[in-house]
Amino acid sequence: MEEREEARQDRAVFHRMSVAGRNFAFDVGTSAGFQLDDLASEVLQTFAKLPREAALERLSNRGPEVDETVREVQSLLLGGFFQPDVAATDPPALTPEDPRELHLAITYRCTLRCRYCYAHPQEAGGRDVETDMSEKVIDAAFEWAANHFAKDANKLNVWTGATGESLLSPHALERVQQQAERYAAAMNKSITTVVHTTNLTLADKPEIRSCLADKDSWWRVSIDGPQHINDAMRRFPDGKGSYEVVASALSDLWTNPDLPDRYTGAATITGEHPNVTDIFLHLHKMGFRCIRMRPIRMRHNESFAINERTIGAIKQGYSDFVEFLLQQDDDTLLGYLKPIWHYQDYFGRFMLRALSPQKGLYRCGAGKWIAGVDTNGDIYPCGPMIGILESRMGSVFTGVSEEGQRLYREDLLVTRKPVCKECWARYLCGGGCYVSAFLVNQRADLPDPYDCELMQHLIELAIYMGARLRHERSSILPELDSQPKN
Ligand code: SF4
Ligand code: SF4
Repeated sequence: MEEREEARQDRAVFHRMSVAGRNFAFDVGTSAGFQLDDLASEVLQTFAKLPREAALERLSNRGPEVDETVREVQSLLLGGFFQPDVAATDPPALTPEDPRELHLAITYRCTLRCRYCYAHPQEAGGRDVETDMSEKVIDAAFEWAANHFAKDANKLNVWTGATGESLLSPHALERVQQQAERYAAAMNKSITTVVHTTNLTLADKPEIRSCLADKDSWWRVSIDGPQHINDAMRRFPDGKGSYEVVASALSDLWTNPDLPDRYTGAATITGEHPNVTDIFLHLHKMGFRCIRMRPIRMRHNESFAINERTIGAIKQGYSDFVEFLLQQDDDTLLGYLKPIWHYQDYFGRFMLRALSPQKGLYRCGAGKWIAGVDTNGDIYPCGPMIGILESRMGSVFTGVSEEGQRLYREDLLVTRKPVCKECWARYLCGGGCYVSAFLVNQRADLPDPYDCELMQHLIELAIYMGARLRHERSSILPELDSQPKN
């Protein structure tokens, strides 16, 4: 009994994984991944199962051919890898260098009726909310940001795509831009980036056209990839798909060569169309230099959700995508990686986290350095959570409740969440998306199990891809390092 207890305490903490025939050991405490051959894998497992002396004795029976491997594994152990994790349970302090993000719901109106849009009128979820955000609410949101939410930060980023089609409210967009500039000047802050989301269906109107061509604006264009995939989800009220309108607007706009740098192609990946490679290639071919692909967040009972029936295909879609990327020559690979090498892309985020191992204590900044504001001025943890009433944190007119702040800063630390604190992927995952958790489990601290399965798969793929880039494609990572990541 005593020996078993000693063995348990001496046990290394790591996750064994095998991707495309290669074995890896992932050290949970440091988030570092190591590619191992069969012998190193066996030696590490022996140290994991037994106290050090017993492990050495057992391995000595294998003869001198294991000596070098034993030395290598021991030097990793002595270097601090594969040790029991000392979990931080205090929330990290926000510094002025951490940008704050304000997600604004400018309008609930939309030109489309996308099948997956949970922000649509039933949209407002039966709540008593204004259809459009008034100047009064916009001004109050910036005042709250300046005096409270972003008071100590050097940078504030603003996103106006939390609900609806933002270009139905061009005056509100203009007001947001003005307030952002005023805020930056008054607070002596660095440039405040304002990103608007649009479906581009209004791009043929001259006044909208000039808005879209404005050199100070950054745009996120919602398009789900090839026509048959996009039109399955993104439709006009009469049921007609939106692809042709969007593609034609884009090719018109991009006759101005300065514009593509300011546009991101944003695709939602659903359980019905899990071919990530096709979706990526299509957006790339359309000319997007920044691409953001994200799996859908949806209750499991929808046919296009990520659920028991579709999770296998989505995982396979990402595995195929990674193999496709790795089959390219260096120039092509770099050209494909650059558009997704940022934290906004779902896989890109895990690649970046896996390549600069760190203990990520949260999934994201929701409720901490991100705030969503709806048309009434109510504050939610992030834009996509707007409308999930249980997650409401306060109002730009009255401030945020202490209880709300405590939940997102303290209780949702990955080292405190009941399911997550034991999970091998905790420090690269950070604890799952709270929107998915609410949609599936009606609470923020219990993650969607299919979200977990997909994230764990992507983290394994990211460790695998990181190892292959480091060891086989040494010119790629230095080139990517200089890219902006947000
Ligand atoms: S959300 Fe899921 S994958 Fe992420 S740390 Fe928690 S249990 Fe692990
Ligand atoms: S809770 Fe989900 S939707 Fe909101 S910021 Fe975090 S990851 Fe994004």
